[in-house]
Amino acid sequence: MELLFQDDAYARSCEATVVAAAAEGIRLDRTVFYPMGGGQPGDSGVLRLADGSAIAIVDTRKGAGPDDVVHLPAEGAPLPPVGARVTAEIDWERRYAHMRIHTCLHLLCAAVDGPVTGGQIGAGRGRLDFDLPETLDKAALGEALNRLIAEDHPVRPRWISDAEMDAQPGLVKTMSVTPPRGTGRVRLLEIEGVDLQACGGTHVAHTGEIGAVDVVKVEKKGRHNRRVVVAFREG
Ligand SMILES: [Zn+2]
Repeated sequence: MELLFQDDAYARSCEATVVAAAAEGIRLDRTVFYPMGGGQPGDSGVLRLADGSAIAIVDTRKGAGPDDVVHLPAEGAPLPPVGARVTAEIDWERRYAHMRIHTCLHLLCAAVDGPVTGGQIGAGRGRLDFDLPETLDKAALGEALNRLIAEDHPVRPRWISDAEMDAQPGLVKTMSVTPPRGTGRVRLLEIEGVDLQACGGTHVAHTGEIGAVDVVKVEKKGRHNRRVVVAFREG
C-alpha cells in the first residue's frame, strides 16, 4: 500500500482501488488516511464510490505489515466490491488540528531537557510525559513554545536507512515508541534548527501554522514523571 501522508501531509484525498473489504476493515492500494500510532489518532473520513454513494470511515489502524493500513467503516456501512475505484477523503479539519498539535509536541520535546516517556494527541490539545525529578515552569515553557512557533521554522520529513538509524540511537526520543521498521528505511522529522527525531506522524510545514498555544497544565505523575499538557489558545 502506498502511504501518501508520509511525503505529503497536506493531501486531503486520493484516487484508489479497493484491494480487500470486510466489516473489520477496508484496504486500498494507496491512501491518505493516517493509521493510529505514535500518539496520533487515526484519521476519519469517507470513501466515495463512482455511483455517488459514500462509506463513512470512523477510524484508521495499522494492519499486519509496516505499510498495511486498515480503514474502519461505520457500523452497518455497505462494503465496496474488490477492484472498485474510490476517492478516499479524510476529515481535514480534524487531521489538520492533529498536525498542528503533533508539531507543537516536537517543539515541547526540544524545549524540555529530559527524556520523554509517553505522549498523546487529542482534539485541540496534546501532552508529553517527561522523566524529570524537578517541576517545570509553566509560564516560561509557554513563552519558549510560542517563540519557537512565531519563528516559523521549516518542518520537513526525510528518510535514512535502518543501518544509519542504528548508528544514531539518540534520534529516538519521543513518545517512547520506536518508529516503524521493516521497510529498510526510517522516517525522520526535522524542524530546522530546533529538533530532529524519528517520527512517522503527520506535521505542518512551518511552525507558525501551529498558532498560539498555552501550557495548560504541568502535573506530577509519580516521583520522576512530569506531564505537560498544551492546548490551542482560545479565541
Ligand atoms: Zn512527529
